[in-house]
Amino acid sequence: MAAVPEPSLLLSFEDARHLVEDHAAHLRPHGKELVELLEGAGAGQVLAEPVVADRNFPPFARAMRDGYAVRAADLSQLPATLEVIGEIKAGARSDDIPTLQPGQAAAIMTGAPAPPGADAVVMVEYTSRNAGRVQIVKAVAAGDNIVPIASEAKRGQRLLSPGTRLDFTAIAVAASVGRSHLLVYRKPKVAILSTGDEIVDIDVPPTANQIRNSNTYSLAAQVQAAGGEPVLLPIAPDEPARLRELIADGLESDLLLLAGGVSMGKYDLVEPILAEFQAEFFFTGVLIQPGKPVVFGRIPCGAGAPAREQPAPSSAHIYFFGLPGNPVSTMVTFELFARPVLEALAGMTPRKLVFLSARLRSEIKTKTGLKRFLPAILSGEFEHAEAELAGWHGSGDVAAMARANCYIVIPPDRDRIAAGEWVPVLMM
Ligand code: AMP
Ligand code: MG
Repeated sequence: MAAVPEPSLLLSFEDARHLVEDHAAHLRPHGKELVELLEGAGAGQVLAEPVVADRNFPPFARAMRDGYAVRAADLSQLPATLEVIGEIKAGARSDDIPTLQPGQAAAIMTGAPAPPGADAVVMVEYTSRNAGRVQIVKAVAAGDNIVPIASEAKRGQRLLSPGTRLDFTAIAVAASVGRSHLLVYRKPKVAILSTGDEIVDIDVPPTANQIRNSNTYSLAAQVQAAGGEPVLLPIAPDEPARLRELIADGLESDLLLLAGGVSMGKYDLVEPILAEFQAEFFFTGVLIQPGKPVVFGRIPCGAGAPAREQPAPSSAHIYFFGLPGNPVSTMVTFELFARPVLEALAGMTPRKLVFLSARLRSEIKTKTGLKRFLPAILSGEFEHAEAELAGWHGSGDVAAMARANCYIVIPPDRDRIAAGEWVPVLMM
């Protein structure tokens, strides 16, 4: 068997995360495809082309309020009485729009084009109409309640850049410039390989000492949420030959996620078998809890299966993560480390991890030495966010994880955090 990587590859959380981000920055998606607007959004795909304004936004000076289009200068003396020369509704044809002369006003509706000569709109609340005249009791400044033509965007201006995930805001932009189809990146294929002699798949009745496979499924859902296409491999036993075979299969995808078999146990074979594939290990542990034994590395393309026919490699390496098998550890380490690599392969513009602050509801006692990401529940209202632990019973407690909606982050030098302290919180 090839050499297991050195124990010195144990990093701080920050160093490990930066290392992953640095590798992710050099990764590119493989290929593009044209999708229908909502299809691309539903699949959480990533834009592969710029989307530009096909016209000015707004295309005409637009009234923001129902009221009267006026010349602001006519309202220097209040109340002011102006002659009403017409009514302009949203969608009015240019021919039907009068030009305002001094002393004149036009009734106008939200979304209608402001008439030539007008420089402001007075809200209807400050007016009283009497036949052909309107009395106005409040002054306006030039520009009030009118959105100038092209103030949001000029024709030809870039509104969305490649790398934008198609969320509802991006869809609104694409729709508003008339794009029913968009060029997106092809989703990366992510192989998921759960390991362990005790693990059985979910349609098999487990015997007394067996455990149902949840990691393959939670990872598949996480992969989908991050913009990848999961490829589910069969469960690998803690046995070199079959594990080797399944890792080779996994190397046909764009990214390989292994779950389990990365601890110090006698049958934790993942690292030595990966080493046989000429794996380069960037870290083999991170000072965090849960998830300390997490592994990150890459394998040269073609090292997977020399004997079999390989598709033309789309990059020089296949990256892999060996995630600890405890289900909560698997979930957390995916989010903290695998996600940036997957997002880069999906073509997304990189994002930094963002931490919020919340007040701790009840004291936390722990040990120093590891940065902890503890499943927690964020509650409270408006500006008064509070967080408390989800009351988990260790890294296998998926039920606690399902109750949680965030992680409370505990720095490695703290062993006690008092109730009422502000704590950093990472949203799930
Ligand atoms: P390991 O990382 O292989 O040492 O596994 C750690 C713990 O996680 C053990 O208790 C395993 O039974 C459990 N485990 C490993 N893989 C899975 C899986 N796919 N689904 C559910 N639990 C798992
Ligand atoms: Mg195991």
